[in-house]
Amino acid sequence: MSALVVRARRVVLPDGERAAAVHTEDGVVTAVTSYDDAPAGAVTLADDEVLIPGLVDSHVHVNEPGRTEWEGFATATRAAAAGGVTTIVDMPLNSIPATTTLEALHVKRGVAEGQVAVDVAFWGGAVPGNVDQLRPLHEAGVVGFKCFLLDSGVPEFPPLDDAGLRAALTELAGLDALLIAHAEDADVIAAAPDPVGASYAAFLASRPGAAEETAIGRLVAATRDTGARSHVVHLADADALPLLRAARAEGVRITVETCPHYLTFAAEDVPDGDTAYKCCPPIREVEHREALWVALADGDIDLVVSDHSPCTPELKRLDVGDFGLAWGGIASLQVALPAVWSGARARGVPLTDVVRWMSAAPARQAGLPGKGAIAVGKDADLVAFAPDERWTVDRLLHRNPVTPYAGRELTGVVRRTWLRGQEADGAPLGRLLSRAGS
Ligand SMILES: [Zn+2]
Repeated sequence: MSALVVRARRVVLPDGERAAAVHTEDGVVTAVTSYDDAPAGAVTLADDEVLIPGLVDSHVHVNEPGRTEWEGFATATRAAAAGGVTTIVDMPLNSIPATTTLEALHVKRGVAEGQVAVDVAFWGGAVPGNVDQLRPLHEAGVVGFKCFLLDSGVPEFPPLDDAGLRAALTELAGLDALLIAHAEDADVIAAAPDPVGASYAAFLASRPGAAEETAIGRLVAATRDTGARSHVVHLADADALPLLRAARAEGVRITVETCPHYLTFAAEDVPDGDTAYKCCPPIREVEHREALWVALADGDIDLVVSDHSPCTPELKRLDVGDFGLAWGGIASLQVALPAVWSGARARGVPLTDVVRWMSAAPARQAGLPGKGAIAVGKDADLVAFAPDERWTVDRLLHRNPVTPYAGRELTGVVRRTWLRGQEADGAPLGRLLSRAGS
């Protein structure tokens, strides 16, 4: 069928960066050769462009069906393609139904089919009373299971208590399936002051770092005791890192991610009343941000994914600017790469590291072996990225434009994206993916 060859002076490959020609056939990489070994008709990137593998964003709340006015498969995946993200993994909650039963997975896949511009895989959900659904969902191809350790914010996705957490982990250990957890502790938050009004400091005080540390401690203990595999989503609190480091050093199988907003913003700079910045756990002080960068460099944090979690402008309550009333969640799918790259570049971190955190590592976490690298046998998911071009965030393709990145100057522009060898221009070229081996 189609044979695409793309060559560039800089290509990010698994073993580093060099000039190369990437040969593909029928959507799969068939060879990586020297730059000069390219046929007439090969696409040659401009001198200011780097060829990188398409990103894998394993933390995206698509919200369709049920809350499609917040975001949907068509809009989310178009934004993804524009941002160099060629695979997303959809979170099991905020859609209705939540993906906590086999039936709900079928509903979701049915809705997504035919309207996705990039490839889409799915997380299942672990909630009280659905242990008997975990195996069928696993066998139907979800990449793992998400749970909450405190109120999720939506009634159809209740949290697991310790007994429920251990029951889920025991079942998943038998399947060698991954449990990912929103780790904040309800008791710590209940004992903290309430968030009131426009004060960001008051909101931050209402969700202290100790809530993350306590919940991560519970997750570590349950993971150790059950021999399962678990993962901490969206770490904001750098003070939890020693706990995670110690657990990993003793062999507990736990991984951790952070998000572009924790690497970009700092509490000191969040304007009072600007609820576009509200997310849970919250954006913390600058020393946390800097410690998260160090932890990434040291390998103590495994991956960076967006936690794209949009809602309607009304629910953000920008009219009153009240951090207690606003929905918590930051929209960033389309800007995740330039946001993280801008921070990396400013700190002297190479692009190869960013690509590893945002492509190879999430592909491995989600069990998607065809994704995450430019290498023979992998899907030809390719991005032409101009790492030195500055731009101001606009033209967002998310369903709702509210984001703290709006109007921010970033460095790094996604010029072209290919999905399995075809130009990913927003047309519904995407496939629904299942975990390898399912
Ligand atoms: Zn999330």
